[in-house]
Amino acid sequence: MAASRSRHLDTQLQHTGTAQFDPLTGAAPVALPAIRTSTVRFRDLDALAAAHAARARGERRVTYGRMGMDTHAALEDVFCQLEGGQRAFLASSGLGAITLAMMALLNAGDHVLIADCAYGPVRTLDSTVLSRFGVQASYCRGTVEAFEAQRRPETRMLYVESPGSLLFEMLDLPALAEYARQHDMVMVVDNTWGSGYIYQPLALGADVSVVAGTKYVGGHSDLMLGAVVVNDADLARRLGDNHYALGMSVSADDAWLALRGVRTLPIRMRESARNAMAVCEFLATRPEVQRIYHPAWPADPGHALWKRDCTGSNGMLAVALKLDGAAVRRFVNALKLFAIGYSWGGFESLVQLVEPASLKLHGYWADDGCAVVRLHVGLESADDLIEDLAQALQAAS
Ligand SMILES: *Cc1c(COP(=O)(O)O)cnc(C)c1O
Repeated sequence: MAASRSRHLDTQLQHTGTAQFDPLTGAAPVALPAIRTSTVRFRDLDALAAAHAARARGERRVTYGRMGMDTHAALEDVFCQLEGGQRAFLASSGLGAITLAMMALLNAGDHVLIADCAYGPVRTLDSTVLSRFGVQASYCRGTVEAFEAQRRPETRMLYVESPGSLLFEMLDLPALAEYARQHDMVMVVDNTWGSGYIYQPLALGADVSVVAGTKYVGGHSDLMLGAVVVNDADLARRLGDNHYALGMSVSADDAWLALRGVRTLPIRMRESARNAMAVCEFLATRPEVQRIYHPAWPADPGHALWKRDCTGSNGMLAVALKLDGAAVRRFVNALKLFAIGYSWGGFESLVQLVEPASLKLHGYWADDGCAVVRLHVGLESADDLIEDLAQALQAAS
């Protein structure tokens, strides 16, 4: 569905993916139901033939449940609205969406350049699947200079994530998009951080935006989902064919949960961002803190790019603490409101003690002997979260 951005996205998100009026009664449910069905039935063979013909023209028609029913179509429309895209394809997780983009757009013999700040399991996808199918990958900092040093004649894709995983390194997406265009590479951006609401890679020149709906779109830590969003018709055709061939399918209930969650995306994200900023202000006063990684924080090296390219922030930050291994473990264990766990984008605050082995893969990391802790700042009261952090720092010392 063509994205219409004439109204504010806050408004669009409340009016996209709603049910059609029943032609007989003139009524429609406000909340689109989860349409659980494995197949569809047709009035007659002409109706079935018409559905096939429409599909052949590239229109969205369903002849079997795996293609996704109205609930899925509504969520696809939402992802198009968020990302400013024409077509969206759903996957059963964020990593599934990354897999779809890679499997659909790379061929045996191709080479892909991957920013070293990308979500860690992308490397597992590479070593476990892509390498077996004859696709080679190289990793480096997400800059034009670093990529150019690794580019090969057979490089077909530039795969980046901005801000990067773990340390939220901002990349210059417009410059990278220009570079990708010059060398005929498809540029894929993992936009889970922005989730379309505060950052739009397609508008900044990327060809493909991938989002883990598991995070801010779902927003309640109760579903796994991913989406691949594009504008280009040829890319859409290749993604659509592979989406079908790979058997990618999402449960109607999960699509429904994501639709329900996304209505409050704007207020959840704004509140998490506000709380995260309050947490940054607190952390900046503490002697244990060496550095804060949060692009909306003015001292972050990516702040200028963030100001230029993003329209907001979220609850993600990392902090480098001048604590030794035992002290930082005491700090994390002492937290009561920040639950120890992976993931982010839900209602709740989470903490992850980042392993040095993961950080070493990021050229952006300044290994200064500090421990790095990643926080997802949720929707609790900022005062309570700050009090929790203060008592945990006390416990660590
Ligand atoms: C969580 C995450 C993913 C993967 O999403 P899943 O739904 O957990 O598979 C991909 N990219 C980023 C940046 C993520 O944080």
